[in-house]
Amino acid sequence: MNDIDLNLIPDHVLNILKKLQKHHFEAYIVGGCIRDLILKRVPKDFDIATNAHPEEITSIFNNARVIGRRFKIVHIRHQREIVEVSTFRKKPSQISKLKNGVVQDNEFGSIEEDAERRDFTMNAIFFDPINVSFFDPFDGLSDIDNKKIKFIGNPSERIKEDPARLLRAIRFHAKLKFILPVTETEILNFSSLIETIPSSRIFDEIMKFFLTGHAQNSLLVLKKLNLIDLFFPHLEKHQFNKHSLLVLGMANTDKRVEEDKTVNPGFLMAVLLWDAFTESSFYKNNGLSLDAKISSFFNANKSSIFIHNRFVKYISDIWRLQPRFLKIRTKSVYRLSNHPRFRAAYDFLLLRCESKEENINVGNWWTYWQTSNESTRKKLLSDGIK
Ligand code: ATP
Ligand code: MG
Repeated sequence: MNDIDLNLIPDHVLNILKKLQKHHFEAYIVGGCIRDLILKRVPKDFDIATNAHPEEITSIFNNARVIGRRFKIVHIRHQREIVEVSTFRKKPSQISKLKNGVVQDNEFGSIEEDAERRDFTMNAIFFDPINVSFFDPFDGLSDIDNKKIKFIGNPSERIKEDPARLLRAIRFHAKLKFILPVTETEILNFSSLIETIPSSRIFDEIMKFFLTGHAQNSLLVLKKLNLIDLFFPHLEKHQFNKHSLLVLGMANTDKRVEEDKTVNPGFLMAVLLWDAFTESSFYKNNGLSLDAKISSFFNANKSSIFIHNRFVKYISDIWRLQPRFLKIRTKSVYRLSNHPRFRAAYDFLLLRCESKEENINVGNWWTYWQTSNESTRKKLLSDGIK
C-alpha cells in the first residue's frame, strides 16, 4: 500500500532534489503531495523541504526566487510550474499570529522540528525519491492506511493555536473520506473559534472545499456536521435534494474539475446563492426590476464573507441574463450570445433546466443555436422555443 509510483513524480522535481543532495543538503518531498501519491492520486503540486537556507538554494539554482518577507521560501520555476522549496523550520515558541491569522513560524529548525509544526500525521511524511526512503516520525503512513486524520500533538491545543486546522480536517474528511480527529460535538464546541478566523482565510479555505473536485461531498459533510449555517445561513433549512440546482451545480463543478476544465469561484457563488436570492423579499417584490432586485439583495448581504466585491458583478451578470434566454428575437439573440458572460449564463441556464426550474426546451434551443450554421439559425429564430 505504502509504495509510491516514482513515475508520478515529474522529472523537474526529481532534478531539484538531486541537485540539492549533490550539494550535500537534505531534500525531501513533503506534505499533501505525498499523501496524494500514496493514495495513487496525481498531486496538483509538489512541495520540497530541505535544510538548505533560502540564499543557499538561490545560489544553486538560477531559476529560483525568494518570496515571503517574514518567512522566506523559494520558488523554483520550471516552465509554467512552480515548485515551492522551504527550509525546515520549527514551531513558534510563542503563539504569534500575522494579521491574516496564519501562525507565524519563521525560525529555521531540524527536520524533526519541521515535522512537528505540521498539522496532521499524514501531512508530515517526508519522502526522498532518490534514495527511496521515508522520514515518517508520527507514523502517518499507518494513519493513511487506516484512513485516519490524526493531529500531531493535542487536538484542542492545535486547533486553538490555529482554528483553520479544524476546517482543514473537515476538508480532508470530505475529500478523502478519512475519519475525523474530533467528534461532532467537539466540532460544534469549536465552531466559535472558526468565527475568529479572518474572513479572507475562511474564504480561501471554503473555496478549496468546493473547487477541488469534491464539492458535492463537502456540502453533505458541512450539512451533517451542522456547519452549513455558519457559512451559508440561507441553506440551513435547505433540503439537499439531488435534483436541486444546488446539488446539480456541485456535481457539475466536480465534473469540470475531473475534466481539467476551469472552475470559477463566481459561478460557484452564483449557484450557492441562487436560492437565497430567489427566496428573498427583494426577488418577490414585483415593483422592482431584476437589476434592482439583484443589487438590493447584495446590499442587504454585504456582510457575508462570501459576497466579495470582485464577484458581485460576475454573479449579477449570470443572474440578470437568465430572462433574456426566453427572448427569441434576432437582435436580442445575437446580442445575448455576444455578451462576455454568455457562456457562464448559459451553463447556469442548463442547471436551471436540469433542476426543472426552467423548461428544458429553452436550454435545448440555445444548445442547438450555438452549433448551428446560419441557415439553421434562421429557422430556429422563426420557429422560436417550442
Ligand atoms: P492540499 O494542497 O490538497 O490542500 P496540503 O496538505 O498540501 O493539501 P497545503 O495548504 O498545500 O495543504 O499545505 C502544505 C503542508 O503544510 C501540509 O501538508 C501541512 O504539512 C502543512 N500545513 C498547511 N497548513 C497548516 C496549518 N494550518 N498548520 C500546520 N501545518 C500546516
Ligand atoms: Mg498542497
